[in-house]
Amino acid sequence: MASLDAQGLRRRRRTLESAQGAQVVVDGRECLSFCSNDYLGLAKHPALIAAAQAAAAEFGVGAGASHLVSGHHALHERLERELARFVGLPAALLFSTGYMANLGVVTALAGRGDAVFADRLNHASLVDACLLSRAEHVRYPHGDLAFLEKRLAASKARTKLVVTDAVFSMDGDIAPLPELLALCERYDAWLMVDDAHGFGVLGEHGRGILERFGILGGSGFSREKAFAAEAAPTDRLVYMATLGKAAGVFGAFVAGHPALIEWLVNKARTYVYTTATPPLLAAAVSASLKVIEAEAWRRERLQGLIARLRGGVAGLPWSLMASDTPIQPLVVGPNQAAVRLADGLRERGLLIPAIRPPTVPQGTARLRISLSAAHETADVDRLIQALGDLA
Ligand SMILES: *Cc1c(COP(=O)(O)O)cnc(C)c1O
Repeated sequence: MASLDAQGLRRRRRTLESAQGAQVVVDGRECLSFCSNDYLGLAKHPALIAAAQAAAAEFGVGAGASHLVSGHHALHERLERELARFVGLPAALLFSTGYMANLGVVTALAGRGDAVFADRLNHASLVDACLLSRAEHVRYPHGDLAFLEKRLAASKARTKLVVTDAVFSMDGDIAPLPELLALCERYDAWLMVDDAHGFGVLGEHGRGILERFGILGGSGFSREKAFAAEAAPTDRLVYMATLGKAAGVFGAFVAGHPALIEWLVNKARTYVYTTATPPLLAAAVSASLKVIEAEAWRRERLQGLIARLRGGVAGLPWSLMASDTPIQPLVVGPNQAAVRLADGLRERGLLIPAIRPPTVPQGTARLRISLSAAHETADVDRLIQALGDLA
C-alpha cells in the first residue's frame, strides 16, 4: 500500500448518497458529475422504476437459484427475446454482469490449442477472460488490422477467436467492425465484440455498433432470411453488451446464432454456476429497451453536448482524444498533473475521475469525461469554464 501511495496510484472510493444523475451528492457534497456510464440518463427513469416495483411486488426480489436449476424466470425469457430482436440477431442469453459474460464466453469458445487475438486496449474483463481460457493469447496493437491479419494467417490453431471492445472504454474510439468481420471471414475466426459503451448509444435507434455500421440491427432483419443462407457472415459474430451503462439497470447479454447460445447455456461456467439475477431487473431492462427506442432525443442531445464540449475546450493546453462517443478523454500526461486537475475541478464542485496507469498507458493519464443525456447545455458550459480557469 505504501508503494501505491508513493506512485500516486492508491485508489479510494467515494460514497454516493443520491440517485445517479447529472447532479449527485457525494460524501455529503452536491456535485455536477461527469463520471457515470449512465449515458442516456435512464438510471432513475420513472418507467424503469415502475417496472421494477411492479415486478418486485408480483415476483419478489430474489431469483432463488441458478438459471439451470430453478431461477430462470419468464421475465428473463421474455427479455432475451426482446434483446435478440433489438440488436437484430437470432438469439440472446442474459448474464449477471459484463465481466462474467466475457469470462464465460471466451472460456466456452477457446481453450488449450486454440488462439485468441485481442486488441491491446480491450477492457480488463476481456484480458482476464483470455488468460483464463488457456488459449494462446495474441495481443495486437490498438486497431492494427495489418498486424492482426499477419497473425491470423500464420496461426495453426484449431479455433481462432478475435475479441475487441466496440467502443474503447478509456479512449472513446470505435473498432472497425466491418473490416474485422471481413478478416474473420477470410481466416475462419470467431469475432467477439464487447459493446458495453455502444449499446443504447450508437445507431439511430440505439441498437449499438451493429446498427452504426449497418451490419444488422435494422428493422429488415428476419430469422427466415438469416437461416435461409447456408452460413451468414454474422454466424461467426458473438455480440456482447452490458445493461448497467446506457440501459441504466444492471447485467449483460450475449447475442448470436442459436447454436452459439445453446453452447453457452451448457458451457459458460459464469452462466451455469451462479444465481440468476432478480427478475425485477429483467423487467426494468425490458422497460429500458422501450425508452431507448422511443426517446431518440436522448441520443440527439448527447451528440449536441459532445459537439459543444469539443468546441469549448479547443483552446486549452490539454486535448481531447478523437472520439464521437460520450466518452471524451482529456489527456493530461503525468499522473500527478492529472490528479491535480481532477482535484481542482472537485473543489469547484465538478466530479471527473483521473484515469492513470495501469488502466491507461504510462504518460497518458487523463480525465475521463463522460457525457449523459441527463446533462444540460449549461452543465457542459460550466465544465468548459472550470477547465479554462484551471488552465
Ligand atoms: C463495464 C464494462 C464491462 C463490464 O461490465 P459489467 O456489467 O460492469 O461487469 C465489460 N466490458 C467493457 C468494455 C466495459 O466497459
